[in-house]
Amino acid sequence: MDSPRVIHNTGAARLITLSILIAGVSVTHTSLGAQSRTSDPVKLGQEGITAIEERRFGDALSAFTQAAKLSPRDPSFAMGAGIAAFRLGQNEAAEQWFGQALKLEPSYTPAAERLGGLQHRLGRVKDAISTYEAALKRTPQATNLESRLADWRKEAALQDRFYESRGAHFSVLFEGPADELLARRIVEQLETEYWRVGTALTAYPAQPITVILYTTEQFRDITRTPAWTAAAYDGRIHVPIKGALALPDQLDRVLSHEFVHAVVAMLGGRNVPVWLNEGLAVVYEAGGVENAERVLKQTTVRPSLAKLHDGFSNLSASEATLAYALSAHAVQRMIDLRGPYAVVALLQDLARGADFASAFQQRISMRYEDFQFDVSH
Ligand SMILES: [Zn+2]
Repeated sequence: MDSPRVIHNTGAARLITLSILIAGVSVTHTSLGAQSRTSDPVKLGQEGITAIEERRFGDALSAFTQAAKLSPRDPSFAMGAGIAAFRLGQNEAAEQWFGQALKLEPSYTPAAERLGGLQHRLGRVKDAISTYEAALKRTPQATNLESRLADWRKEAALQDRFYESRGAHFSVLFEGPADELLARRIVEQLETEYWRVGTALTAYPAQPITVILYTTEQFRDITRTPAWTAAAYDGRIHVPIKGALALPDQLDRVLSHEFVHAVVAMLGGRNVPVWLNEGLAVVYEAGGVENAERVLKQTTVRPSLAKLHDGFSNLSASEATLAYALSAHAVQRMIDLRGPYAVVALLQDLARGADFASAFQQRISMRYEDFQFDVSH
């Protein structure tokens, strides 16, 4: 959804310029190597771009931060730091960097686009609207902002029908007519999950989590549906709920699964391998592990975890069933080996930009390669 390519598409015209600029002169600098500790902000900027392209977001953040320190008037470095912080799930830092880029150059539309998008993801629809309105005032030709702005204005109108949960850990929004009874039932179940999963992982989301209930869409098990699965990754919980009261066990399982994704987003940012994210969600579903073991027993062929880092959306239905089962099996194995806290610590390492294989080895005390062999045989 937010691949490194985006930096070229939507963003940072200045970064592209920077990139092209450097490409022309890089030959003379190759002997310095990619990791050189330079005090040249342009070179640091190039290191940052390369790191983002290679998904080393921690390295990217430190390169852009250093470049911004050396060249504090250049908005493209603040933009680069914002993109890296965003990918690490460091939302507050990302917001500050995008804001900084805009302060330095108020007509820098890509920075406004990202700032507004982030504010919207964090549930601050009104802030997001102001950011886009200000950007459009400065750059009326930025028509790509207009359609999202229209959607957000509709959403802001819906927010007047906000339903706050008793425990204040969840806020519910309706897409479609409000159903207070069902909302109360869902929030009570999510509060139960908050304490159950929180206790198991010793991790409790500090900010309220927004839950969006689609009241005109028929309830179904969305936990294996790629379109919905992807939606869960922004830290908000999305559930179609029409007719859900007739299937209370399934509803509880879906809520538990989606809540774990929100916790993973909070702990690990946006660079968590999909198998780890999905595996955790399935492990904490009622009966999730038993079901996964049953699926695995029916087959002798198992995919490798390395193939399950980037999403399951291009898998066939039977491949996806197997992918979820293997993911759950692998996560349960990690928990058996080192306990849930080691898994949480690994997620936190990823949020700081650590390389997955090294963080895995440090936290689980086993080489990732050996672990993969172990769970796939
Ligand atoms: Zn899921």
